Amino acid sequence: MIPYGRQQIDEDDIRAVIEVLRSDWLTTGPKVAEFETEFARQVGTSEAVAVSNGTAALHTAMHALGIGPEDEVIVPTMTFAATANCVVFQGATPVFVDVDPDKLLIDPDRVEEKITSRTKAVIAMDYAGHPADYGALKTITEDRGIALVADACHALGALYKTRAVGSLATLTTFSFHPVKHITTAEGGMVTTSEPMLALRMRNFRNHGITSDHYQREAQGSWFYEMVELGYNYRLTDLQCALGISQLRKLRAWIDRRQSIAQQYRQFFSRLPAVKPLSVAEFVENAYHLFVVRIDFSKLSFDRATLFTELRGRGVGVNVHYIPVHLHPFYRNNFGTGPGLCPVAEAAYEEILSLPMHAGMTDEDVETVCLAFRDLIEN
Ligand SMILES: *Cc1c(COP(=O)(O)O)cnc(C)c1O
Repeated sequence: MIPYGRQQIDEDDIRAVIEVLRSDWLTTGPKVAEFETEFARQVGTSEAVAVSNGTAALHTAMHALGIGPEDEVIVPTMTFAATANCVVFQGATPVFVDVDPDKLLIDPDRVEEKITSRTKAVIAMDYAGHPADYGALKTITEDRGIALVADACHALGALYKTRAVGSLATLTTFSFHPVKHITTAEGGMVTTSEPMLALRMRNFRNHGITSDHYQREAQGSWFYEMVELGYNYRLTDLQCALGISQLRKLRAWIDRRQSIAQQYRQFFSRLPAVKPLSVAEFVENAYHLFVVRIDFSKLSFDRATLFTELRGRGVGVNVHYIPVHLHPFYRNNFGTGPGLCPVAEAAYEEILSLPMHAGMTDEDVETVCLAFRDLIEN
């Protein structure tokens, strides 16, 4: 089965991890700062804060902004549940907003309609690797004193008008789960250029304590203070060493993803029932996913059949995502349900994510295309 996403681990990654295993620091050591510094440099921010996973990154971002029970945070519904869950972690209310039909990105016009006196932040999500409309979102949020957060778990390596994703919002979150662009097995990062927010996040990931073990060792001191309630959201040195090694290969992997996308687009231009999502001219898409919309009114079978048939041919398709506002948790606790975001709900019926990862060969791409041709033309 060709999976929809998969990690790439080379010998140099393995060596980097083994080196840390032989060292004095398995966690909270020198590799953390090294990974953070290199990551910040690549996305063009002054700060990057490593955390244990992408969900922890979102939670850490919400905490840094002081999101609390009285607040509303606007989130897109076409995303992974964690984008909204992080708002609930802080006792606040997620307000779901619909997406545009061509790129399935949060729709700035719909965002504006949902703003109230309680709106404290907007979380954009770079669906499938295509940066959200940061220009429009910035205009809407900046004047009103609303924070703009980017859930860029799909978009490490993407550009918006020549600027790297990671530097386009007040806070940007990333995930290093094995299906994402680079992996640390589990892992996450928050980038920002505001030192006060970075400081708050460094405390939050370490129980709310203002210094870590490595710093105290360096100072020869035992004293520490816990100034607020935090969590253990730390990333280990083993993982950071892997992250540093992986980050070196990011550019080449993005190029490979873009080349696979090009091959898919060329192929699907001849199959009118299958439409890849569109791409704005002024972005560079990081292609975490390759999502197509399928017009089943032109076909004699439904998505469930297509899904099963493709998998039967070794093509590991998937569906990203069930709109978050349709999940029972949100229906039961926040009164959401069908009809709230009609564009996302209609898209959900038609989308499929095709295999897309840097380790795919041209033959893998051909296998996917031939399986589609076979099923759709016969
Ligand atoms: C992967 C992902 C997350 C969560 O990341 P984890 O590292 O799995 O916790 C959050 N948001 C989006 C959009 C994601 O794709």
